[in-house]
Amino acid sequence: MTGQIIKATGGFYYVQCADEIISCRARGLFRLKETSPHVGDIVDITVAQEDGGGTVSHIHPRKNDLIRPPLANLDYMALIISAADPAPNFQIIDKLLAILEYKDIPALIALTKPDLADVSGLSGIYKNAGYPVFVVNNLTGDGSDELAGEMSGKLSALCGNSGVGKSSLLNAIDPNLGLAVGDTSRKLGRGRHTTRHVEIFTLRNGAMVADTPGFSSVDLLMMSELRVHNLADSFIEFGLHAPNGCRFQDCRHIAEHGCAVRDAVEKGEISESRYKSYRALHDEIKDIKEWERK
Ligand code: ZN
Repeated sequence: MTGQIIKATGGFYYVQCADEIISCRARGLFRLKETSPHVGDIVDITVAQEDGGGTVSHIHPRKNDLIRPPLANLDYMALIISAADPAPNFQIIDKLLAILEYKDIPALIALTKPDLADVSGLSGIYKNAGYPVFVVNNLTGDGSDELAGEMSGKLSALCGNSGVGKSSLLNAIDPNLGLAVGDTSRKLGRGRHTTRHVEIFTLRNGAMVADTPGFSSVDLLMMSELRVHNLADSFIEFGLHAPNGCRFQDCRHIAEHGCAVRDAVEKGEISESRYKSYRALHDEIKDIKEWERK
């Protein structure tokens, strides 16, 4: 049988096959291959006659995956960012966006707490960079239908630091879902166990949503996979606003002559804040030695 893993906890994988959910163990084989099934994986399973329990025997090719938290086949990573309280940290947001780009995971941005600060600047920066941006007011529910609509029929992970209003946002989208996620978080306690427990919840409109911990614990480790040359590719608007490229093919967009990216920043086509983040990330990874990477 073939199905999708919707939950992983304590060494068990819960596989949705048509209308039933079958709890499975994974074959030892995966450990030898240094891989393991991820929530979101499409898998083949065999079911034992005696107890109805299954074994995951094969993982279908993934369109993308994250190691931490272990999720595969995401249609969206939704970054939940509050306009204020806490104020957004552009460098962390842009770092995460670069990693997602590098990992082939489409990102969308949900801006919360528009009642506390003007979101037009924030919204402009990320729309200009090419990302879908939604403004959701958790107090009134404004914007939650649009966000839910975009996620309909897709698998999305929601990622946001504490205080950005993720639970309220989930409640606004679907009261049942918000409660379920809140319960899980409470039961497990944030932090220690959250990397091992991942679960997909299905919304009323058919959107599938995985709750994930805050930005800091989402695969920033993968930064070590990024090289200077693919960092620039991970800022999608560089290609968008400087389509003809720079004078030098290996331009790092720092101080080189004839740099189309810096020209676009000067003309205001690429936002200053995104370029600043690029510079900071460039400096962070340029000196990492190959032997330090694994
Ligand atoms: Zn350049």
